[in-house]
Amino acid sequence: MKAIVLERQGPPDVLTLRDVEVPRIGEDEVLVRVEAAGVNRLDVWVRSGVYKTEMPRVLGSEAAGVVSEVGGKVSHLSVGDRVFIDPALTDGSCSFCLQGKQSLCENLKLVGFGADGCYAEYVKVPAVNVHPIPRGWGFEEAAALAVNYFTAWHCLMARASLQPGSTVLVVGGGSGVGVAAIQISKLLGAEVIALVGDEWKREKARGLGADHVLNRRRENIVEEVLRLTGGKGVDIVFEHAGEKMWETALKSLRPGGTMVFFGATSGDEGRLSIRYAYRRQLNLVGSYSWDKKDVFNTLKILETGRLKPVIDTVYPLADASKSHMRMERDEHFGKIILKP
Ligand SMILES: [Zn+2]
Repeated sequence: MKAIVLERQGPPDVLTLRDVEVPRIGEDEVLVRVEAAGVNRLDVWVRSGVYKTEMPRVLGSEAAGVVSEVGGKVSHLSVGDRVFIDPALTDGSCSFCLQGKQSLCENLKLVGFGADGCYAEYVKVPAVNVHPIPRGWGFEEAAALAVNYFTAWHCLMARASLQPGSTVLVVGGGSGVGVAAIQISKLLGAEVIALVGDEWKREKARGLGADHVLNRRRENIVEEVLRLTGGKGVDIVFEHAGEKMWETALKSLRPGGTMVFFGATSGDEGRLSIRYAYRRQLNLVGSYSWDKKDVFNTLKILETGRLKPVIDTVYPLADASKSHMRMERDEHFGKIILKP
């Protein structure tokens, strides 16, 4: 089969198409013929070396496609089923998994990072990691679903305890996960201030339901957030931009507010005034991956059609390097997709 195989970490041009063996499945696994694969920041970090991985490694955490083979112990799936992949691979047996906190699993791996992934014609995953594609959804939309929506749900609901009426500042509102965070926050009755980095993204963020959209390159974000919240600051900041936005994000919080953070796209070093944070009783809450209950809670809503991914561009698999360049230049709004 054709696949994008990482043989060394580096710039986007290390992503080249190779012929490799179709994966052989175990008895608890399924083989999925990939119809669309989602591109994520994680893929960029694994490619560039921010995250170390064993090589050679087929990149790509998420995909939608058709089941083409099922293992001997798999009874709930059949060849021909249309499915998408939940890339969080957990052991199901550690103390965290048994408590339903799979995001803390002692053996957590992600497809495309700790195991071969979806930038390929076929991918194998445990049968418990595939779910039926919601009715009426295409493969491209279904490939844009897992990482962004499960991450955003885990952040906002499990970690930041979003309530109806909360004010939420969504940093990186034009990214795939930012789009998901805007949609989920609005659906659950929050008031949303979205940050974007380009003027043309303003209207797109408004179109998703953001109540206010600020351009981080043109406006003083802290001043504007305080103005929009009557001088108080927001209840929740959804932060994944990292060191470039860290202080702005902190200063945008109301006393007692919660900043949920992950990703750190622009870098890993954030400054913090410890006294500022404790006097204002700020809650700084990290988030990573998601729990199975986040998957099922999100799916219930996705199936109603009230959350829909925004597709930015679709590239052929052979152009994976172009897709990474587009993401690294921040030229996208929504999800970038690869088609094998
Ligand atoms: Zn576990």
